[in-house]
Amino acid sequence: MLPLFKVAILGGDGIGPEVIAEGVKVLRAVETLLSGARFELVEHSVGAGEFLRSGDPLPPATLERIREADAILLGAMGLPSVRWPSGVEMTPQIDIREQLDLFNGVRPIRLFHETHSPLKGYGGAGGHPIDFVIIRENCEGLFSERRTPRPSGRDFETDTMKITRRGAERVCRAAFQLALKRRQHCTLVDKANVLPSMAFFRKIFDEIAREYPTVTTDRVYVDAMALFLVQRPESFDVMVTENMFGDILSDLAAGIIGGMGMAPSADVGETYGVFQPSHGTAPTIAGKGIANPIATILSVAMMLEWLDDPETLRGARLIRDAVARVLANPDHCTADLGGKTSTTQMGDLICQALA
Ligand code: ATP
Repeated sequence: MLPLFKVAILGGDGIGPEVIAEGVKVLRAVETLLSGARFELVEHSVGAGEFLRSGDPLPPATLERIREADAILLGAMGLPSVRWPSGVEMTPQIDIREQLDLFNGVRPIRLFHETHSPLKGYGGAGGHPIDFVIIRENCEGLFSERRTPRPSGRDFETDTMKITRRGAERVCRAAFQLALKRRQHCTLVDKANVLPSMAFFRKIFDEIAREYPTVTTDRVYVDAMALFLVQRPESFDVMVTENMFGDILSDLAAGIIGGMGMAPSADVGETYGVFQPSHGTAPTIAGKGIANPIATILSVAMMLEWLDDPETLRGARLIRDAVARVLANPDHCTADLGGKTSTTQMGDLICQALA
């Protein structure tokens, strides 16, 4: 019997369903090349659209069914026009991260073609490569009290940067483990010069670093990292940071490789894994057929890698190679990269490259 992997598909809102359709197309194409793995896909309605239908963006019964899956493939969720009374948008994707304890937010940043980057001298023959991974702590940090009920009518609000020993240890370990499989360098990004919570994070990073003597380390303040990501992104391998800093730096990092449509992600814990493009719902381009599906397709590859079966690992490599071959041709560009390739055409090109 071939192993059967059950995958929950959560298209969500805005461009989410459009890019997920291409991710699923590529998953089905790679499945035909794998002699030893099959995928059962089960769709679920979650997001701002689900809130408008049922009054709950993430119904508890749906979350229970999602928990039954081996992996979760997610598009994007939330719409600016659909908000809670407090004024914030629906973010069931963050709720899922917290409820499934997906502490390890993995954000790979890789430049596929020099024309995709706004930076000069990157990619291409003789240019610097951009190839690093941001590890973002997903379950605490500056997001930790976002759902804490607040008295109304106050003339102030606060958010707390909460770093626990357990939270910092496990995310730093995840970063060092990844560095071992890569170029053996790990950078801590913090604000330890100003915030006691960040000084505590640094203390724990230093403790964990001693468990990995072959991995070299450095420590960079988050404001300096915003500068270095533009000036010398080639000098980083794995970096680890708290939730909000990781959120912001992920978008900046996506910008240097072509934009949000190029940046995949995995949010993983001990048991569950959610794989999704780093971008949001991009409502202004939804329904136009121009969204870039590469981030989602690369997230499918991350999902296959995480499933960690010899055949799914092979599938992940096949997808990454197919993406690299398609993007090696600078004519293969969606609108965000300055080209004319549509969302579905890009999915088709990658399926053809796989075949
Ligand atoms: P969120 O707060 O939900 O993370 P965001 O504020 O980061 O969302 P996005 O929806 O990610 O916003 O969009 C940021 C910009 O990137 C927008 O200009 C959007 O049109 C563009 N964008 C995002 N994803 C894609 C994509 N797949 N293809 C093309 N453009 C995209």
